[in-house]
Amino acid sequence: MEARSKPQRSEAARLSKVLVKSYGCQMNVYDATRMADLLSREGYAETQSEEDADLVILNTCHIREKAAEKIYSELGKLAIAKRALNAQGRDMKIVVAGCVAQAEGEEVLKRQRAVDIVVGPQSYHRLPELLRQAKDGARVSDTDFAVEDKFRVLPAPSGAQIRARGVSAFVTVQEGCDKFCSFCVVPYTRGAEASRPVAEIIAETMRLVDAGVREITLIGQNVNAYLGADGDGRQASLAQLLDRLAQIEGLARLRYTTSHPVDMAQELIDAHGANPKLMPYVHLPVQSGSDRILKSMNRKHGADAYLSIVEQLRKARPDVAMSSDFIVGFPGESDADFEATMALARAVGFASSFSFKYSPRPGTPAADRDDQIDETVKSERLAALQVLLEEQRQGFNAATVGKELDVLFEKAGRHEGQIGGKTPYMQAVHVEGPMACIGREVRVKIIAAGSNSLSGRLMSEEAKA
Ligand code: SAM
Ligand code: SF4
Repeated sequence: MEARSKPQRSEAARLSKVLVKSYGCQMNVYDATRMADLLSREGYAETQSEEDADLVILNTCHIREKAAEKIYSELGKLAIAKRALNAQGRDMKIVVAGCVAQAEGEEVLKRQRAVDIVVGPQSYHRLPELLRQAKDGARVSDTDFAVEDKFRVLPAPSGAQIRARGVSAFVTVQEGCDKFCSFCVVPYTRGAEASRPVAEIIAETMRLVDAGVREITLIGQNVNAYLGADGDGRQASLAQLLDRLAQIEGLARLRYTTSHPVDMAQELIDAHGANPKLMPYVHLPVQSGSDRILKSMNRKHGADAYLSIVEQLRKARPDVAMSSDFIVGFPGESDADFEATMALARAVGFASSFSFKYSPRPGTPAADRDDQIDETVKSERLAALQVLLEEQRQGFNAATVGKELDVLFEKAGRHEGQIGGKTPYMQAVHVEGPMACIGREVRVKIIAAGSNSLSGRLMSEEAKA
């Protein structure tokens, strides 16, 4: 493991507790942990309580209007808490990070006076410097796409920090998006596609595994577009990276998310049959089942291409569980287009999914169209799709009852004597069992399926002990 530098107590170290609240995707969850690691080197301890915090960071999401508006309502509450603290002679710095910061920049400072710092997803490694600038009441903003690689600057977490976060961890391998789907803000907030070098990812993964992590999820806005430097001018694909990571002793499970259908290379599909550590669960957003809508979304794939990827995946790994994202009510979506989405969902049979009403985002091409769909129609379509997707999810869970599956145990369960973990298909499972199972994959017989989790029985006598 790399030697870590001693904590450097800076000026900002007089503020001692930081609360980092993350919204939106897994990329934000990962960035939030890196911010906490960075600030811990500056003398800040993490807290989960707002009353306790001298520094609150909202790591924001801009993907839908509701997500962005939620941040302003949260900021309104924080502003009141800050005023109350100021009246007691204490301060609380407020930072807006993430995609709202990137998309709205100085506008955030104008809209909410209580905000001290605005920092984008590509510049949060500069937080210590921004805090120093804001120390005497200055309000600062940094939303540059930094020239330096933030991952090289960010400090590694300590073994204790890794252990506190559990046995499953995210590693960002790819950032940004070049796809420009006509509904989406990501290419504007996260910039162009860029991949981290293989050696950097292996080093980060080994550090996590050394500290007890057993499952790694590689994350990226378009993770399967990954093409990372691999020394001597070579480049590695996601399938090759997964193969390299699978060789790390002690690492039990690998996952990756989120993938785009056009980057679903045959080599990656085949990896599901060849790499035993790669879990049989693929999140592959389709958005719509109508070719006409997919074209106007600029998705660059049709419904048949999507179905054929699913077929190939099932050929490579027959038990693979599919998951997806759907958007209903995209401009111009007719009843027939929506029916095509329902038909695609029926054809695939998803183990889990996320579905959303189309939300017009400023600056994206679809937002300017004059054939926007009525809110009531969007709501009706979303409700119908969600009924179907929920039936599929419940059906998938029910079909695991009676099976024996490997469960990676992650934490104590809600009840005394209970422990909780995940199946290879991302289902939550609870069993009666000893805490010694945490961090291990143990064979479990699934005995019942509830609405959100499964219950099971440990199969191995040794594990029960
Ligand atoms: N890169 C991934 C992909 O291409 O599928 C997903 C990225 S995005 C963070 C996650 C999901 O948010 C998308 O798959 C899409 O379903 C949804 N989304 C993005 N923009 C949206 C919008 N304007 N309205 C509603 N949902 C949206
Ligand atoms: Fe957004 Fe499309 Fe890029 Fe996914 S592929 S991040 S939906 S623009």
